[in-house]
Amino acid sequence: MDKCNWVPKKCSLFAWRAEMNRVPTVEALGKRGVVIIDDMCNFCNEGLDSVSHIFTACPLALGVWEKVSFWCRIQNFFVFSFRDLLEIHNVGSKGKSEREAIYGIILTTCWVLWKARNKLRFNRIRSNVDEIFREIRVVSFFWFKHRARKGVLDWKDWCKFVIM
Ligand SMILES: [Zn+2]
Repeated sequence: MDKCNWVPKKCSLFAWRAEMNRVPTVEALGKRGVVIIDDMCNFCNEGLDSVSHIFTACPLALGVWEKVSFWCRIQNFFVFSFRDLLEIHNVGSKGKSEREAIYGIILTTCWVLWKARNKLRFNRIRSNVDEIFREIRVVSFFWFKHRARKGVLDWKDWCKFVIM
């Protein structure tokens, strides 16, 4: 997994653990002998609460990725596994700074999706695609602005994905 220089460590660490299937989904807990009756994804009730479903198959995640890929102008956004998400920034012919920005946004999106999943599962608060996408843009803007040391970054430019 590539290093990202601008998202917080907790965010990279989360992606690393998710890729190894070491985040506490119902599926992963089940493999460790912890049985949870409510084993379906709470967002759609169509798939198992697993890394692959939550991040690459759930209609909610697909809606979020559609917005993220449109925002960052990522063409051919096809992902079949969590690992594919961590490679998306290397596909195509983007420049270095755009690739770094995209990579961090992908990691941020995974982090925000996981938080939304926990909020629904543990607090019964349901977020929709627009709310999640808005949070991704806001959170990534502050992280990028403060950590990537790109000088002045304007919110409007960030929303248009103008990185220079
Ligand atoms: Zn789902």
